[in-house]
Amino acid sequence: MADYRKMWSDLGMDLEKHDLLCEALPDAFGAIYMSQENRPEGMDFFNFVVSEIHGVRPAELIEHQKNGGKVFGTFCVYVPDEIIFAAGGIATGLCGGSQFWVAGGEKVLPANTCPLIKASVGARLDGTCPFFKIADMYIGETTCDGKKKAWEILQQEVPVYVMDIPQMKREKDILAWKEEIRLLLKRIEEFTGNKVTPEILAEKIKMINNKRKALARLYNTRKSSPVPISGKDALLVTQIAFYDDPVRNAEQVNKLCDELEARIAKGEGVFPKNAPRILITGTPMAIPNWKLHHIIETSGAAVVVEELCTGTRYFENLVDESGKTLDEQIKALAERYMKTNCACFTPNTGRIDDILRLVKEYHVDGVIECNLQFCGLYSTEAYLVQQKLKEADVPYMHLETDYSEQDLEQIRTRVQAFIELLEK
Ligand code: SF4
Ligand code: SF4
Repeated sequence: MADYRKMWSDLGMDLEKHDLLCEALPDAFGAIYMSQENRPEGMDFFNFVVSEIHGVRPAELIEHQKNGGKVFGTFCVYVPDEIIFAAGGIATGLCGGSQFWVAGGEKVLPANTCPLIKASVGARLDGTCPFFKIADMYIGETTCDGKKKAWEILQQEVPVYVMDIPQMKREKDILAWKEEIRLLLKRIEEFTGNKVTPEILAEKIKMINNKRKALARLYNTRKSSPVPISGKDALLVTQIAFYDDPVRNAEQVNKLCDELEARIAKGEGVFPKNAPRILITGTPMAIPNWKLHHIIETSGAAVVVEELCTGTRYFENLVDESGKTLDEQIKALAERYMKTNCACFTPNTGRIDDILRLVKEYHVDGVIECNLQFCGLYSTEAYLVQQKLKEADVPYMHLETDYSEQDLEQIRTRVQAFIELLEK
């Protein structure tokens, strides 16, 4: 990585602690990613992004700030990036996916908080992630209880604006979400000093839709057998989409897709044709959480799709681009975002319908549900997911884990037994 120490020091980061993270990441990435055979050449860009993860993109964000722009950190796929970009801001995903940050979060949060929240709070409080330091404002949401309380702690460090997410999906809830998006737009306009016009919002809706289309194209290639890209690589591409420049990201994903489609035409793949095909569902897998994918794909199976917020929930459903007024555009945004299925809603039957649809579309042999420890929402919902998959005769396994490596072997044993079952 190039030398970014001055930039990190100017951001007020803890350089000594951060060095430990910089030392660990290349080894972990090398062991998990670079050991794969026959990786697409189009992954080079994404490898580069990881190798410069705390350098290139943070430097771009700082440049944007020097030119008078604002940066907004987000933690949930319900927060509409379109509004942020339309007001001249940049949205960047901030969810923490590393065990490295958990201890920092535990200093202020109860131990029985999910690792995603602990890592996100720890990354900010420990000063070991430039993205958390750069963001001028965090946009939180009222999804789960842990997050709601975490905003109040983070508010002591950085301005946090919280969106009130409905808990149901009736007509009045969609209208309420539309109103929340309108309030977000107003707050962001005030914060950036820029006015959002229908013309700019139309442009940004198109821009984010293009990113979604590129990711949808990538996932579409994974329906083929043999699958032309590993689940690990597809997950990495999705994780990077949360914080990379959306236009560049769509270009790079489309470039990768050209290569993958050529592979499909030649019948080439990265796993044998008969490797069991796995769908992963559950809580999000924020970068650098590659734990389960690595276990599955080094146990003889291929991950072909993720029904996750770092998966299909992120890109499925486009925003209607026909709106001419801000009111029509905000309505279209509200309708699109309310199609996302999250366990914080009741009921959340759409998620199970999606899993069953994806099982068919991606020719899935077995479903692994993986939830982060202490996520009561997803773990409780797992009962119904399991019940419906059983009725549909789809093999299913439920795991609960965190970001640590303590349970690696235990999970590997369970995953291998599940895969053996699928091979019979
Ligand atoms: S799981 Fe729910 S709360 Fe978490 S990012 Fe997804 S939609 Fe948001
Ligand atoms: S994984 Fe569960 S507990 Fe953790 S932030 Fe997401 S919804 Fe909340």
